[in-house]
Amino acid sequence: MEQTHPALHYVQIDEKRCTGCVLCMKACPVKAIRVRDRGVAEIVGACIDCGECIRVCPHGAVKAITTGSDPSKLSRYTIISASPVLYAQFDEEVMPNEVLLALRKVFRYIYDQAYIHELYNVAVELHLKENRGKEGAVRPLISPVCPVVNRLIRYRFPSLLKNIIPIMTPREIAARELKKRLYCEKVFDTSEFGVYHITPCSAKMGSINYPMFLDSSYLDGALGINEVYELISKNLRDLEEDVILHRSSGVGIGWGVSGGEIAGLEDGNFLAVSGLSETIRYLEKIEMGLFENIEYFEFRACLEGCIGGPLTVADRYQAKRTVARFVRMFGHEKRLKYAQAEKAYHDGWFFNEGRKIPLAATNRKLSLSDALARQKKIEEVFRKLPGKECGLCGSPDCRTFAEDVADGQVGMERCVLLNREKTK
Ligand code: SF4
Ligand code: SF4
Repeated sequence: MEQTHPALHYVQIDEKRCTGCVLCMKACPVKAIRVRDRGVAEIVGACIDCGECIRVCPHGAVKAITTGSDPSKLSRYTIISASPVLYAQFDEEVMPNEVLLALRKVFRYIYDQAYIHELYNVAVELHLKENRGKEGAVRPLISPVCPVVNRLIRYRFPSLLKNIIPIMTPREIAARELKKRLYCEKVFDTSEFGVYHITPCSAKMGSINYPMFLDSSYLDGALGINEVYELISKNLRDLEEDVILHRSSGVGIGWGVSGGEIAGLEDGNFLAVSGLSETIRYLEKIEMGLFENIEYFEFRACLEGCIGGPLTVADRYQAKRTVARFVRMFGHEKRLKYAQAEKAYHDGWFFNEGRKIPLAATNRKLSLSDALARQKKIEEVFRKLPGKECGLCGSPDCRTFAEDVADGQVGMERCVLLNREKTK
């Protein structure tokens, strides 16, 4: 779905297709959806762009907003930085270089982003080394790579914003370096080119338009893997393999699956967690002060990692097998020059200038007394409800309904079961 207007969330519900079946409302992990009087689903709360609603909607009514693949919507010279998850969408016989060559038939300049993953791994290793034994160092540190997890932390676990490691994500590093290089080499005029990321993720567009740790993103937009899949498949047919665009080892490609990021780090105390419910469970524990023995967490909101992203095409377990095959084929040794990466780290190459910890993003800013009064009202309403968790009121569960009543968004009469009792 093309972006038509700026929005704070980048998932949209098409009212014409929505039947009001409430499946998305029940699936939303942050209870951001309601089905009210109009009988269609609406996103009313703090959506984190996780895409769970996209997955469950049986009518294809929910879509992620992206830049779209229509060439007229892109810059004149389009530079593509592709997530390695793209490589795992085709038959196992299709090699990463072929995918990149097929992309080059449509877009001007193609970059293998997986190579930057290797560099990023070195930066994290060096940062963790500096942290070891340092008094007052924040532990555990959290990977900034998953934009859904970043949004989740900002909305629900703001005390953990400081735990997100202060290193730029590989996609931003890649976009910055591509722009610098093309500018220095005067390949294109700056106003004529844009760097776009091919992504499995419904939250990528939001992370580009509203980056959390940068003043503005180096990327100009995002295209869903599902939007370029047909295009690539068609162009795979008659390829002339005249150039090697694929640069990464198995280390960079392995990032497509959960655990791939930490697999590229030297020995240490790291954990990889995937899936939203597990991620929330672990973030709750970290907030309680547990896991200080863990140095670094790799969280991915999608089950099994980015190969399970809502904008992918291939079955996640088949894609996982393809990634494992590429990792074996391209090896566990990084291809970068370590000394160069180390120098870049000490020169500040991996850090965004003037990084600020963003403020917590909550829907409401209440004084303590107002917050206590609200809580009291919620409890009063909740006690009156039948507690059947039926969702007939248009809120995902009884507690959320009680919150909606306390906030004046709906009246008690919306509780269908209470009404039935009264009529009896
Ligand atoms: S899953 Fe949500 S968006 Fe899809 S039809 Fe049901 S209520 Fe509408
Ligand atoms: S994208 Fe995720 S958070 Fe947003 S409405 Fe859908 S399920 Fe809820």
